[in-house]
Amino acid sequence: MSELRQNIVYKEWVIIAKERAKRPHDFIDNSPKLVSDKEYDENCPFCPGNEDKFPNTEVWRLDDGKGGWLVKSIFNKYPALSPDVEYKWQEEGIFRTISGYGVHEVLIETPIHNVHPALMKVEDVAKIIYSYKQRVIEILKMNDIEYVVVFRNHGYKAGASLVHPHSQILALPIIPRDVKVRVEEAFKYFSDHGVCVFCKMLSDELKVGERIIHESEHFVSFVLFAASSPFHSWILPKKHSSRFTDITDEEVDDLSKHLKVVLAKLYKGISNPDYNYIVRTSPFSYGKNKFFHWYITIVPRLTRSAGFELGSGMFINPSIPEEDAKFLRSVDISDL
Ligand SMILES: [Zn+2]
Ligand SMILES: [Zn+2]
Repeated sequence: MSELRQNIVYKEWVIIAKERAKRPHDFIDNSPKLVSDKEYDENCPFCPGNEDKFPNTEVWRLDDGKGGWLVKSIFNKYPALSPDVEYKWQEEGIFRTISGYGVHEVLIETPIHNVHPALMKVEDVAKIIYSYKQRVIEILKMNDIEYVVVFRNHGYKAGASLVHPHSQILALPIIPRDVKVRVEEAFKYFSDHGVCVFCKMLSDELKVGERIIHESEHFVSFVLFAASSPFHSWILPKKHSSRFTDITDEEVDDLSKHLKVVLAKLYKGISNPDYNYIVRTSPFSYGKNKFFHWYITIVPRLTRSAGFELGSGMFINPSIPEEDAKFLRSVDISDL
């Protein structure tokens, strides 16, 4: 029997299509991959040494102490939003607009052209997470920035077009509706129950155990009970914290190990799937609060949405979250 399941945080329902569910190994991704066998590519705009060929505006770098960089942030060449535009809200009748003010950066994660975070050294993953934190803290000092989205697109189906490992940072002059709804639902839960709904979710998931992927000193990852797609997972800090930017150095190190474990299990278990991951944090203007809990969501792109999803805002998940988690737990990544 199929089953409808609700995400307790967002109140969103999904259909877990048990009748036609595939087994975890059926999701081994054989689609064309965005990969390269070159550590340096003369045609890559992000490889060190190609700066003259592909000029870009560097915003920030983590120096290697030898004139080079370990992580670098540049302005996106085709930015969705720009800090050079004056923030301007306009309304005429029902027609409301804001000028395209904001920030759109590309964070180049490593000088090496063809490495995947699942195969990177843990200390190099830590440099990426540390860089996210530094960039978000800096960007939030700007006027009229309400929300910052940090995300990674990996592979064609996740929207990437360049092999060179990179993430993106988009700072917005508004709080997106989707974010606002989630924060408001979390606030309502806190008002009703006096506890953070994410903390409650974490303790219930640990109690049941069947959807846990990995537990480290400061983080827990699990496939969501109401996963909207196969292997849809969260990595949550164990200690309540509403803002990603409050992460400590010790937690950065632990998260790096943890993220590498989850990505490596996906990489090995279902053959380097395309995926997005997103850092979800409380909006700046809500301050440090007791009701929202930051986390990373990982969404492998193994299914496609169509008319039903557009018509309902709901998803049909053709896999069983407990089986996906069990499968990931069993993937041995000791050789990666
Ligand atoms: Zn490159
Ligand atoms: Zn919490």
